[in-house]
Amino acid sequence: MTFRTRFAPSPTGPLHLGHAYSAILAHDMALKHNGEFLLRIEDIDQSRARPEWEQQIYNDLEWLGLWWPTPVLRQSDRRSAYGDVIQRLWDQNYLFACSCNRRDIMSALAAPQEGAPLHGPDGLIYPGTCNEKGSSSGTYAIPEDAALRLRIIMAGLVAADSFDGTKIQFSETGSGPNQETGRIAFDLDELENCIGDIVLARRDMGTSYHLSVVMDDATQGITHVVRGQDLFEATKIHVVLQRLLGLPTPIYHHHRLIRDDQGKRLAKRDDARAISKYRDDGYTPEDIRKLVGLSG
Ligand code: GLU
Repeated sequence: MTFRTRFAPSPTGPLHLGHAYSAILAHDMALKHNGEFLLRIEDIDQSRARPEWEQQIYNDLEWLGLWWPTPVLRQSDRRSAYGDVIQRLWDQNYLFACSCNRRDIMSALAAPQEGAPLHGPDGLIYPGTCNEKGSSSGTYAIPEDAALRLRIIMAGLVAADSFDGTKIQFSETGSGPNQETGRIAFDLDELENCIGDIVLARRDMGTSYHLSVVMDDATQGITHVVRGQDLFEATKIHVVLQRLLGLPTPIYHHHRLIRDDQGKRLAKRDDARAISKYRDDGYTPEDIRKLVGLSG
């Protein structure tokens, strides 16, 4: 199998050391496997994406010595492809319109089952309030202040059927936050209790991170997804969507996160750790490799 991976930043702020680690690791893995490294710009959130941040991504990655083929795929150019899939899922009744806001969800969760988690990889675990609504036929529309959610169990049943009918699986060559590695298996109960009916399309974006990432990895022929452990649980959503949409499941490699001195994961707002800041302070790309624990 050819090895093709990608780095998929959102142009919503400066890239920091955590991004540098992820991008260099993926690039090194592609070189080692005689494969390809692609760049994808994840700019579906147009309220936060800025052209200057996109340009900064190119500058930073070039400075780090990375190379990728052009043209670069930009998610904002893929709206109609996402819309076609949303329409198909709507027609098949996998989606329902939901206008619950955070407060509605919190109050429905006011008496959660003991021990049940409140948050999953898509935020608060949706309590199913609007799930009983049928989809209307015809062209889908996302109502004002609303979202389309995926009926996770209906989707999970299709996914499970493509394995042994009970467990859904993927291969992990890195590790999850609890050292999960190798063959990762999960079932419908986990989907229901730990993930819930996730948002598949938001009105302001017309899509969602989960749908776009799954469609784009397939369109770009990605065989290996290299990304941070913070996305390990979200991978379960992605595998369900791949099975539902008849798309291949890549091999996943989740890596450790780069943390600050207090042990907190770096965020976009941590400008002090921005790659460009290090460059301005006289650091070399080799210094950055050392800082994130990658040797030359
Ligand atoms: N765009 C995502 C981020 O910047 C990465 C998504 C992915 O690698 O799947 O966190």
